[in-house]
This record gives sequence, C-alpha cells and structure tokens, in this order.
Amino acid sequence: MTEARAGIRGIGMTSARTRDRLVQRLVDQGIRSTDVLAQIRNVPRHLFVDEALASRAYEDTALPIGLGQTISQPFVVARMTEALLDGFDGETVLEIGTGCGYQTAVLSPLVRKIYTVERLSELQRRTRERLHRLGVYNVQYRPGDGWEGWPKYGPYDGIIVTAAATELPEKLLQQLAPGGRMIIPVGPPGKQDLTLVTRMADHFEQVSLGAVSFVPLVPGK
Ligand code: SAH
Repeated sequence: MTEARAGIRGIGMTSARTRDRLVQRLVDQGIRSTDVLAQIRNVPRHLFVDEALASRAYEDTALPIGLGQTISQPFVVARMTEALLDGFDGETVLEIGTGCGYQTAVLSPLVRKIYTVERLSELQRRTRERLHRLGVYNVQYRPGDGWEGWPKYGPYDGIIVTAAATELPEKLLQQLAPGGRMIIPVGPPGKQDLTLVTRMADHFEQVSLGAVSFVPLVPGK
C-alpha cells in the first residue's frame, strides 16, 4: 500500500525517511531551532524544482530553477531563517529575491506577514501560484528592484536578502525598524559573507555568519 502510494507520484522521495535524513544532516551541521527544522521537514521541496530534478530535492544542495536562478541549499535557508528569527519579536519581514519561493514557504508560518520583491515578474507570478496551491497566504508580492526595497509597508522587523549584494543596500538599511534584523550575503562572487545587520539606537551592528555562495543581487534598472 505504501509502495503503491509512493508510486502514484512516481518517486519515493517524498517519504518521511528521505526528509528525516535531510533534517538530521542539518542538525549535525548545527541548526538548533525546532521551528526551522520542522519547516524544513514540512515544506515539499520537490514541488519547487523541475520534475527532472525532483529526485534530488532532499539533498542538501542548491539546484537550478531556470532563468539562470537557483533554489538555495536547505542548510543555508535554515541558517538564514534561524538567524533572522533568533530573538525576533516582530511581525513583518521584507524578502528580497522571491525566486521559486522555497525560502518564503519555510519562513511563512513563523512570522505574521512577508513582503517579497523579485525582479523577474514572470518567475514571481509562477511562484505566487505555487505558494497559493500550497496554502501559503500571508505573503504580498511585488515585481521590482530589491535595491529599492518596498518602502510602502516599512519599516520591517526583519529583512532577508537571498541574492548577494556588492555592498549593504542603503535603502534596505533605511527600511529596517529599530531593533530589526537583516540577513544578507555581501561580497563579490567567490567571496560572499553572510552578514547579520542589527539596527541599534544610533548605529548598525554587523556580524559575519560565514561564507556563502548566492547569485548576484542584480544592480537596479
Ligand atoms: N529565495 C530563493 C532563492 C532566490 S535566488 C529560494 O528560496 O530558493 C535569487 C533571486 O533573486 C532570483 O530569483 C533573482 O531573480 C532575484 N534577484 C536578483 N537580483 C534582484 C534584484 N535586484 N531585485 C529583486 N530580485 C533580484
């Protein structure tokens, strides 16, 4: 019966065991947040990648999603989400780089509202449909340039940027609420540093969370 069920989708990769293995790997690499681990287990990552790659969806690796973009590695999504939410007592998050929406889906039940910006409007349109099908509704979408943020609904309690910036985007700093946290990869290809920025009373505190590899945050129009 179980085998036949698995056969309907044509692949066994949605099995609990496959997902447990990924979660265990993230635990071994130091992910501690039970909320984040539960989300990595719950979100069906195989529905965010091309069918041809679905059998690899629960490997801890980045995968292509077309248009030269990638779905982030689960470890990096977990790390960024955990860092964003550590001590987070806010409600709203601005996300830059919607992509296929995997990061959005992982974060969505852990905050009240996500505002997400993506420069490829067709990609974002498809992602919005996917997330609706999966029952993710607390997200507002905007096609546009992430360097500009989304001033209308700011300031945000958290900002998460899923493409690498050459420098900290000034407008995103401005849209961060007092006490708010921003997670952003900063640096040129091959030398990117995942950076946690916290807005203090009169300055921004920066902490490095280690080396990462993201597609570039494309300079504005
Ligand atoms: N968050 C995704 C990964 C996104 S990949 C996941 O969970 O898998 C990075 C995304 O950032 C791509 O979709 C790319 O089109 C987008 N992007 C790059 N530069 C941008 C910019 N200036 N403004 C908005 N989106 C940008």
